[in-house]
Amino acid sequence: MKTMTLEQETNPWESQAARFDLAAKKLNLDEGMWKVLRYPNRELIVHIPVAMDNGKLEVFTGFRVQHSIARGPSKGGIRYSPDVTLDEVRALASWMTWKCAVVNIPFGGAKGGVICDPHKMSLGELERMTRRYTAELIEFIGPEKDVPAPDINTNEQIMAWMMDTYSMHMRQTVTAVVTGKPINIGGSRGRREATGRGIMIVCDEAIRKLGRTRESTRVIVQGFGNVGSNAALLMAQAGYVVTGIVEVAGSLYNRNGINVQAVSEYRMRHGTLSGFPEAESADPADLLVTECDILIPAATENQITSRNADRIQCKILAEGANGPTTAAADEILADKKVFIIPDILCNAGGVTTSYFEWVQDRQGYFWKESVVNEQLEEIMKSAFQDVVRYAETHEVNNRIAAYMLAIDRVAYTIRQRGIYA
Ligand code: GLU
Repeated sequence: MKTMTLEQETNPWESQAARFDLAAKKLNLDEGMWKVLRYPNRELIVHIPVAMDNGKLEVFTGFRVQHSIARGPSKGGIRYSPDVTLDEVRALASWMTWKCAVVNIPFGGAKGGVICDPHKMSLGELERMTRRYTAELIEFIGPEKDVPAPDINTNEQIMAWMMDTYSMHMRQTVTAVVTGKPINIGGSRGRREATGRGIMIVCDEAIRKLGRTRESTRVIVQGFGNVGSNAALLMAQAGYVVTGIVEVAGSLYNRNGINVQAVSEYRMRHGTLSGFPEAESADPADLLVTECDILIPAATENQITSRNADRIQCKILAEGANGPTTAAADEILADKKVFIIPDILCNAGGVTTSYFEWVQDRQGYFWKESVVNEQLEEIMKSAFQDVVRYAETHEVNNRIAAYMLAIDRVAYTIRQRGIYA
């Protein structure tokens, strides 16, 4: 690998492109298709005026990148964060294309983001920003075009406002325009826990393959947002031993296992993990490289880089976040024989249940939670098997296998549809 600065290494677009190029090369993808798939189909930048509570006007910058609509409407979340960049949204949009193809659901990929600090905004300001952002995107989104969903710092309430704004413009209720909505307005049962549940399903498959049991498997989870907390709760309930929970503001470690339910209640009451009595507090960076069987980075990008990859001590890396590992770190982890469940497979439970939500909205018929969970399990298990089999047959690592499988599926569809000129 060519030498690069940490800034280059951690540019998510570079991370995505490096893996894409490697997989495309191994697939012998022809040059034209390579160009089509490497770059997003459409990139929108919007400037969103918002009346703030102090009476002043503020203008926020937002993005929506639609990478591909080859296999169906583009699909992907929207994040609110002060450091969202176009390159990041581009990478995340491409990852959504590959993710939907890995689990074989009929969507392309997209992602959105608004540069803002939602923790410093009132509910009213957030609502006005969300509605105006949606209005700016009005002709580019829709159930058959592009379907947003929650991501970092966005939630069911934000999706409800997006759905309502879109519906007001259409003069009719259009629930299928976004997923991750509250259940009473077209959300799906099981969607909230879906990403965490999907992580558990693929971890179950991985430990079975490595001949381990849940009870003898120690897990460290980084991040206690929607993805991390649900993964930790479900896995602890199922018998895994959760020994560590890493958060920037306070991390916990107990080699005998942490009562995750109690942590979750504690965090709800205190807003932090710090001070939780039944575990030691730990340094977040140290806990990430502490010995365990499964490490689940479920926070943001670039947590495992060339700077710490050689100190990682897990046997299985289950990527709950998008892009938690840089391309340079991949090589180091491969030398250490870490079994990687790559993000585009590992966290695909969220978008898979979004697909169920979209289907239910369009049917107007809503499934029991057990049906949602069963269907999710079936899809996640077969995607895991597809990726692992592909890796073994083609003698590549799991990540490159997932990319190859996905790129091949998308390229096949594009060849079938042909290029409109
Ligand atoms: N934001 C989630 C992801 O990165 C979910 C996307 C969706 O449900 O459309 O996969």
